[in-house]
Amino acid sequence: MNERETAAAVPAHGGAQLCLPGLEPATGAMTNSVNTPPAASPGRMRDLYPTFAAVHRELKPRSPLPEIEIHFYAFAHLNHTIRLRDGRMRVRISDLLQSAPEPVLEALAQILMRKLYRKPSAARYLERYRRYVNRREMAAQIEIIRRHRGRKRLSGPRGKVYDLEEIYAELNAAYFHGLLARPQLSWGQVRSRHNLAHFDAAHNAILVSRIFDHPKMPRRVLAFVLYHEMLHIKHPIRHEGARRRIHPPEFQADERRFSHWREAEAFLKKL
Ligand SMILES: [Zn+2]
Repeated sequence: MNERETAAAVPAHGGAQLCLPGLEPATGAMTNSVNTPPAASPGRMRDLYPTFAAVHRELKPRSPLPEIEIHFYAFAHLNHTIRLRDGRMRVRISDLLQSAPEPVLEALAQILMRKLYRKPSAARYLERYRRYVNRREMAAQIEIIRRHRGRKRLSGPRGKVYDLEEIYAELNAAYFHGLLARPQLSWGQVRSRHNLAHFDAAHNAILVSRIFDHPKMPRRVLAFVLYHEMLHIKHPIRHEGARRRIHPPEFQADERRFSHWREAEAFLKKL
C-alpha cells in the first residue's frame, strides 16, 4: 500500500515561536499540527484542483494522477496539510489563503507536494510563499485569527518548585531596569523537551516547559530560558524582505549579558 503522510506548517509572522536559546528555529520543518475543527463552510470556494493537478503532473510525470481533494480549513495557525492514502490525495489549506493570488497557491502546491514526494523544495517557491504570508496585512490577519482560535491552556506561573513571576521580577530588575511589562507567565501543560519555552506575541504570554519545574533543574538555567523569552519582548521579530530575523545580532548580544549564559547554554544543549 502506498501510504505517505506529511504535514507542513510553514511558519509565518505570529506563528508560535519555537525557541531553543541560541539556536534559530528550523523553518519549514515538518510538524504535526494541532487543529481546530473544520470551519463552517467558507463563503467562496476556490477551485484549486487545476493548480494541484498541474503541479502533480510536473513532479510525477509518469504516475497516474491521484484523486485530489482540496479544502480550505480553519486551522488555528497558518497550517496546511497534505496526505496520500490508497491513491487519494487530501489537501487542507488554511482559510487565510482563500484570497491569495494564484502564484502563491501554486507555490504552496509545489511546497506541499515536494514534501510529500520527498523532492527537493525549490527555493523560489518558498520565497514566493513567505513573501506573501509575511506581508504586514497578512501578518495582522494571522494574529487576529490566532487570538480567536488559539485557545491556550495556561496553568499559571506557580510550579511545584519554581515560581515564574518571582524569577521574572528578579530578571526584570537585573537586566531591564524593571521596565519590561509583564506578560502572562505560565508553565506549559506538557513536559516538552523540544519546545522549551516560547513567547506568544498574540496572547502576550510566555510559556515554559514543565521540565524546568524540577528540583534537579538549576534555577539559573530556568532563569536563562525565561530571560531569552523576555528578550523576545524587547526585540520584536524583524522583517528583512522575505526573511524574518528572530534572533538578530542585538538580541544575541543581549543574551550574552546573562551572568551564566555559557553554563546555561551548555546545560540546555545536553537536555
Ligand atoms: Zn528565541
